[in-house]
Amino acid sequence: MAARTIDGKAVAASVRARVAEGVRAFESERGRAPALATVLVGDDPASQVYVGNKHRACEEVGIHSVHHELAAETSENELLELVGELGLDREVDGILVQLPVPKQIDPDRVVAALDPAKDVDGLTPVNAGLLAHGMPGLVPCTPAGVMELLRHEGVELEGAEAVVVGRSKLVGVPVARLLLGANATVTMCHSRTRDLDATCRRADVLVAAAGVPELLGADAIKPGAVVIDVGTNRTDDGLKGDVDFAAAAEVASAITPVPGGVGPMTIAMLLSNTLQAARSRAA
Ligand code: NAP
Repeated sequence: MAARTIDGKAVAASVRARVAEGVRAFESERGRAPALATVLVGDDPASQVYVGNKHRACEEVGIHSVHHELAAETSENELLELVGELGLDREVDGILVQLPVPKQIDPDRVVAALDPAKDVDGLTPVNAGLLAHGMPGLVPCTPAGVMELLRHEGVELEGAEAVVVGRSKLVGVPVARLLLGANATVTMCHSRTRDLDATCRRADVLVAAAGVPELLGADAIKPGAVVIDVGTNRTDDGLKGDVDFAAAAEVASAITPVPGGVGPMTIAMLLSNTLQAARSRAA
């Protein structure tokens, strides 16, 4: 194996330590800790685990967290009402509505109703617009984590060829915007891209976020490329990324593993966004 494995757990730990320090400073200046409100509708076991992990992570860095659990049959209006109340609550700095929500609720309407200043997932149209315009705002956690990994690895982005596979609002589009903001030359691929491997092979930096296990193999990697695999796919053989790690590692210069690459960064950046939201609201 030629490639260096990028250790997402270690980078996430350094982000958490930085946030913990910021939280202590915030608390001594403001007399209270930053606070995150989470909202879970229904009893999906995976969502319960995700929300539980977020609360534990908050606790570890000193962020106060409050959980709101609503029944699976909660109406859209009831959820919108809670989101509105949390928006007005002066003690709440960040609001996270765990997705997916039950089918009677339109997730886009709920996200759009969040106070953009407390939108720690960075998903509201306001924050997406700020990102599109290259203006400061709250950036979605996983894309922010991708950029933090690249920064930590010292990857030169200015003028680099970057290829992003996937164009979701959650990952692909914001990653591409951030790479463009860092002056990379960005190409976006999706399910209708004609020759995916050939396009990916142009990349000095390849970010895979398609949700297809091991979609990209050695033929998709330019020798020496840096590969960031966002894919998290449950298969009969365990958790797999969108990249065939073993094959790609023979060609790339650095690559994230799955698990242990991008995954740990997402919660770390949520903590960082909550501190950022608290600071901006207090300013
Ligand atoms: P998504 O909303 O399903 O979007 C997938 C994107 O990939 C779409 O734009 C789709 O193209 C494209 N795509 C699908 N199949 C493709 C193919 N064969 N060739 C090229 N492009 C293809 O997924 P997402 O929410 O962005 O998530 C992507 C992956 O990242 C998933 O595995 C997810 O579990 C993982 N993820 C991980 C984290 C983390 O913390 N590590 C966080 C979020 C997501 P079209 O637009 O044309 O349909």
